[in-house]
Amino acid sequence: MLLYNTLTRRHEEFVPLIEGEVGMYACGPTIYATPHIGNMRTFFFADLLHRYLEFRGYRVKFVMNLTDVDDKTITRALQNGVPLTEYTEPFAESLFADFDTLGIQGADVYTRATRYIPEMISLIQRLIDRGLAYVSDGSVYFDISEFPGYGRLSRVDLTQARQGERVASDEYDKDDIRDFALWKAVREEDEAVGAVWMTPWGPGRPGWHIECSAMSMAILGETFDIHCGGADLVFPHHEDEIAQSEGATGKPFVRYWLHGEFLQLDGEKMAKSRGNLFTLGDLLDRGARASSIRHTFLTTHYRGRLSFTWAALAASAEAVRRLFNTWKRLRDHPSTRTGRAEDVPVLHEAAAGALANFTAAMDDDLNTSVALASLYDFVTIVNTRLDALCTAPISAAEASAALDAFARIDAVFGILTLAEREQEEVADDRLRLWVEERIQARAEARARRDFAEADRVRDELTARGIVVEDTVTGARWSVRCQGEVRADP
Ligand code: AMP
Ligand code: ZN
Repeated sequence: MLLYNTLTRRHEEFVPLIEGEVGMYACGPTIYATPHIGNMRTFFFADLLHRYLEFRGYRVKFVMNLTDVDDKTITRALQNGVPLTEYTEPFAESLFADFDTLGIQGADVYTRATRYIPEMISLIQRLIDRGLAYVSDGSVYFDISEFPGYGRLSRVDLTQARQGERVASDEYDKDDIRDFALWKAVREEDEAVGAVWMTPWGPGRPGWHIECSAMSMAILGETFDIHCGGADLVFPHHEDEIAQSEGATGKPFVRYWLHGEFLQLDGEKMAKSRGNLFTLGDLLDRGARASSIRHTFLTTHYRGRLSFTWAALAASAEAVRRLFNTWKRLRDHPSTRTGRAEDVPVLHEAAAGALANFTAAMDDDLNTSVALASLYDFVTIVNTRLDALCTAPISAAEASAALDAFARIDAVFGILTLAEREQEEVADDRLRLWVEERIQARAEARARRDFAEADRVRDELTARGIVVEDTVTGARWSVRCQGEVRADP
């Protein structure tokens, strides 16, 4: 399996440190606002990599951090007049809800920065002890002139580095290379929101970059396999992570660095700072389906920029519909249950071919658009086979080979299972509206003393598995048993 390593700017054969096991870290969100779908594209990419490594049989330990203390979270907590954690925590919850809606399976471990302060302090102490960091006015800075490997990942022009100067802000540009903050001395704002921790060099709070070094190494060890994130994190965040980690341990930090490209809107990077964004909720409110968004993400390689358009989303909805219908047709087909038909090799061969093509494409640095094409080809064959049923019935073995290929591919793409869940939710919604309309009709019939009609409506509801209970506050209803309910009245 080839992965493009930003560190070497090459496709490299992926060989984990320990055979069969992968340690993987993804930079997660700063939980100070609802993430936009550009952020989601990057989290989707990490999830895709995680899923595909598992498809290839690796046991993966996947860690994602939540940045719950940094310049931005403190500023927002202050503006809202609440303690830091009280401000950030609802964003963690809504993030997990968005992950669920988008079918992002999520990490094995989520590390919140505020829970790893002791690890950060001891890492900074190691850097001070090794002469790579120094204290200045209660803050601690990394001395880039003492770390010869600085700039290896981002290939920045070190002749532009402003020797002996310091940058306190977490974010800065490539032409602003300076000693960066590992620890920031306490300010009034930090005290106001409770973002203060004690250290040997005084009270304060961590810089953003040290957080990811400390948390990733705490869980995955001092050297681990894969670190990923969005392309904007290469400099300074990941460059600084390497300097801090390798500076402290003297060992290689990460073996494969993977970066996902941006989602764009109107030709520009989607960004909170620009305000040109959609959240997942915005798209769903406008009638988009999460399965279409997933599909849209898959149409472009993760290292390619992707422009968000409504037309692309509509085309994805159509593509998902086609994939889903074929899958459903095959699942519902009586042959799959009776097993009477003669076993012919058509779908066995098509399934094996689809899986081989899918694997070859994904092995090529997760080439999802080519992998999707192999799924479309497969669907065409399955449809032809289903249409030709009269001449050559499908055996249970043939159907199950095809269904297995769908299931294995969907364990990585996650489109079909998500589309199915969405259908069930729509059906549930439709059922709810119908029940409420019927209960209203019954109440009106009773109000005009038409008890025959009221009983008829009640029977109608009972026939569909709905139990109506009259209470002092009006009628309450429930579903007797999910299996007995016809969801499509
Ligand atoms: P943040 O919450 O700002 O720390 O960003 C979380 C993740 O989203 C980081 O990995 C960023 O690189 C990534 N990201 C930010 N904007 C975009 C975008 N427009 N497209 C794709 N990824 C993005
Ligand atoms: Zn990070």
